[in-house]
Amino acid sequence: MGYHFVKFGSHIVRFSLGGIPVVGNTATGGLVGLTFAGANLCDALLVREVSPDEITDKCAELVTYLESQGAFDELEERLVLQSAYLHVTNTCNLSCVGCYSADANRNRACDPSLSDLEHAVDVLAELGVKRLVISGGEPFVRQDLADIARHAKTCGMGEVVVLTNGTLCTKENLAQLAGLADIVSISFDGASPDGPAYIREHQLFDRLIHAVAMVKEAGIHAHILPTLHAKNIHDVPVYLEVAEQLGATVGFSLLSGSSAELGDLMPCDACLCELADRMFSLGQEASVVSIDDEFDLRRALRVRRACGAGKTNVSVAANGNVYPCHMLHKPELLLGNAFADDATTLAKHIKQFSMPAVDEIAGCSSCEHRYLCGGGCRARSYDENGEIGRRDPYCVFYRRSLDKTVEAFVSQVS
Ligand code: SF4
Ligand code: SF4
Repeated sequence: MGYHFVKFGSHIVRFSLGGIPVVGNTATGGLVGLTFAGANLCDALLVREVSPDEITDKCAELVTYLESQGAFDELEERLVLQSAYLHVTNTCNLSCVGCYSADANRNRACDPSLSDLEHAVDVLAELGVKRLVISGGEPFVRQDLADIARHAKTCGMGEVVVLTNGTLCTKENLAQLAGLADIVSISFDGASPDGPAYIREHQLFDRLIHAVAMVKEAGIHAHILPTLHAKNIHDVPVYLEVAEQLGATVGFSLLSGSSAELGDLMPCDACLCELADRMFSLGQEASVVSIDDEFDLRRALRVRRACGAGKTNVSVAANGNVYPCHMLHKPELLLGNAFADDATTLAKHIKQFSMPAVDEIAGCSSCEHRYLCGGGCRARSYDENGEIGRRDPYCVFYRRSLDKTVEAFVSQVS
């Protein structure tokens, strides 16, 4: 390091992991454990410019490393979009409790044209999106689903995922998607043919198993996506077994919505603790244990101030409107229109938007896990409270998961 005063950029945070002082980089997600001297130096670097004379030999290696990670740069507000949802229709043949995309236009609005969707894909690709999640409504109601996926691939999207309820998959439409969709993800409501249907009218287990088999036959990666809630948390190991037998991967989605809407399916704190415990112990053995896209226990020791909504990911509604996240299609969070706007206009609006950081969320700002959790899900805050700046009602899940993860980490390093 040359002779110059240094100070941390605003993306650097200081906290402790189970009593171990650490410094974290919210731009890279990385963190470094600190000695007593290192912690004192980092505390100074957070609040003032430090001269090279103040950096002792004991801390020279730490400072060199932090410099290599960009800790002293003030990062310009760059757009770092990685993934996007594209809702290709508002139509659906099912009506599931807690469906994130259901709105007043369900089964009423006209589908967007292929050329509108292609324009949206062009714009998203220009903004850096590499992972496109095609959702609906039910995407397989469209006859040109393969054309949409092909266009995404032509634009250089590395991963194209189709989310489906599985009921409209056929050998023919899956064969058309082969080589274009990387993953077909089928949502499940029930872990056996005679299990109760909690969020759908009927149990579709056998049909969905058949759909998974057809996805595999078409040579596409099959993923199953069970929705968890108060009444089926004990089914997690059963779903893992089902996935293994099918040769599919599995992820879980936590049923979300207001407590008024979800009623007795809304997980209570005891359920969320049980889920965290199950996921934690499964995570010690199983290769795939994730809850929603944002919280993967294998990556829980990553530093962040917020989730990726409006930063690394956005969502395009079936009318082209762009929102920070697929679960936040709210008029007050509108960022533009991907059918009408060009990439420059959209980029400008996205850069101007920011989610409340965890330090600004009442109830989270003094939480010891805040820089690992990022404050949970802003959409769940909205569902429950009508605003994005409150604590996630599923906080207990994150808190318990992080308690256990940090405890395991500390026992490994001490
Ligand atoms: S664990 Fe709970 S209180 Fe802590 S940051 Fe996450 S949501 Fe907020
Ligand atoms: S608001 Fe919730 S669903 Fe959306 S990106 Fe953030 S954590 Fe994920």
